[in-house]
Amino acid sequence: MRYPRKRFVVQEHFASHHHYDFRLEMDGVLKSWAIPKEVPRITKVKRLAVQVDDHDVNYIDFEGEIVEGLYGAGTVRIFDSGSYYLLERNEDKIKVVLLGEKLEGVYELIRLKDTRNWLIFAIGDRAHVVDSR
Ligand code: MN
Repeated sequence: MRYPRKRFVVQEHFASHHHYDFRLEMDGVLKSWAIPKEVPRITKVKRLAVQVDDHDVNYIDFEGEIVEGLYGAGTVRIFDSGSYYLLERNEDKIKVVLLGEKLEGVYELIRLKDTRNWLIFAIGDRAHVVDSR
């Protein structure tokens, strides 16, 4: 089975608090989450991912400086990027296969009830990755 692919990016952001911005191209925008720690690359590690405002899709390539005084001031570097496809999506759950350089495999985001806080984790089922190639 083949799924339509979209793009994702993880931007490392050296702002007042160092974090990673995880963004999925979805609904014509970049759905975005700020992850205070690294995006997990092994299974059994769950990380908090705080949903933040949608970003314009053009932001997907952005690297550089956000100047002092502006929201998110600090340096932004692309940590990883690539394509993904969606396996499942509802209000409280997003399940994707990431096909990046560093991040590859099945990932799930689960929303903590009625909040903007989600948990992100790798599932480690690589079968879908193989299927898609
Ligand atoms: Mn950020």
